Amino acid sequence: MTQPILPGVNRETTLGVMGGGQLGRMFVHAAQQMGYFTAVLDPDEVSPAGRVSHHHIRTPYTDEAGLAKLAEVSVAVTTEFENVPAPALEKLAASVPVAPGAAAVAIAQDRAKEKAHFVKCGVPCAPYLVIETQQQLDAADDVLLPGILKTARMGYDGKGQIRVKTRQELVAAWNQLKQVPCVLEQMLPLAAECSVIVARGADGQMVNFPPQLNEHRDGILAVTQVFDGNIDPLIAQRAVAAARAVAEGLDYVGVLCIEFFVLGDGSLVVNEMAPRPHNSGHYTMDACDVSQFDLQVRTLAGLPLVQPRQHSPAIMLNLLGDLWFPGAGDETRTPPWDAVLALPGMHLHLYGKVEARRGRKMGHLNITGNTPADVRANALKAAQLLGIAPF
Ligand code: ATP
Ligand code: MG
Repeated sequence: MTQPILPGVNRETTLGVMGGGQLGRMFVHAAQQMGYFTAVLDPDEVSPAGRVSHHHIRTPYTDEAGLAKLAEVSVAVTTEFENVPAPALEKLAASVPVAPGAAAVAIAQDRAKEKAHFVKCGVPCAPYLVIETQQQLDAADDVLLPGILKTARMGYDGKGQIRVKTRQELVAAWNQLKQVPCVLEQMLPLAAECSVIVARGADGQMVNFPPQLNEHRDGILAVTQVFDGNIDPLIAQRAVAAARAVAEGLDYVGVLCIEFFVLGDGSLVVNEMAPRPHNSGHYTMDACDVSQFDLQVRTLAGLPLVQPRQHSPAIMLNLLGDLWFPGAGDETRTPPWDAVLALPGMHLHLYGKVEARRGRKMGHLNITGNTPADVRANALKAAQLLGIAPF
């Protein structure tokens, strides 16, 4: 077994991350808390993670010199966004340990490969068809309609997806998506959505957080609730087993999130995976003894993993840029944080983004308390103050 990377004394032990978004920022915070130095590669001048990192390399993700610099200053490198070019990870891996590896990321980046992996692991997903050619489009089975046409690559937060009811709409949608490789998925009647986050070390040791109950609005995560009784225990158990099987099957190293659909008859269908910490795991920062970002640091550094313990029921509200716009126009406001923070159990996380835009993830609010009922009551009050629809 390889030696763990311990934080240095009298020298910089630097952990690197590809991507400077909010997930990178929270990784940087966790790494720094444990005494590591950090390096972020992100072309953006003012990225949320770049602003708080010791090193910020401002080059494109595929830039040879940028990657060489990142590899030079870092003892290990991770990634914070799904669409990081897999060849860039391969390049880095030639000179520095990289987790998760390029192969696993390449599978998670491509809905067709991802679904094939789920099938291989014996974890059911929605009926689907890969569409890369006109012939495949023409041969699509009617049973897949109504459905959702999703680009195989580069989708996030519901982008690159079109809902289609008829064949005509399917044809129009594929044209609208410029006939790039797509996956047509049958539209399922969802009773609920949940996700499971696992962390797996290079030695195969694996731990997981409890399943999270998620509510999406307009294709974007809005609310996550995590406490005993929020998900049927049998479904929760099956979701954890499925998530572990998927990570195992990838020989995955790092933090991995698997998203599931729960159908009306209680059956569980896997939706997709993210090869990194996930928005639905942000509650772990305030409600668990170890957060998903702590586990990202541990898996990257080869440190021991210990099964996390959730010490408080939790609700997470995503804070989208919409909250900064009180009306339909361009006029902005600062949301009433003071009133929100007057409520018990509020943990405000803002990502330091310089400009609010509608639909942009600006931060999140974790709410903790003694009982699920307390947490829910306070979360609803906070939502009302902020103008977030009740859940
Ligand atoms: P993100 O990266 O934010 O998780 P995404 O752009 O990858 O999102 P998906 O997870 O594929 O998108 O879909 C977003 C949401 O749309 C899902 O969480 C779910 O609410 C809905 N959805 C997606 N596929 C289906 C389906 N086959 N049947 C019913 N609803 C679906
Ligand atoms: Mg999703």
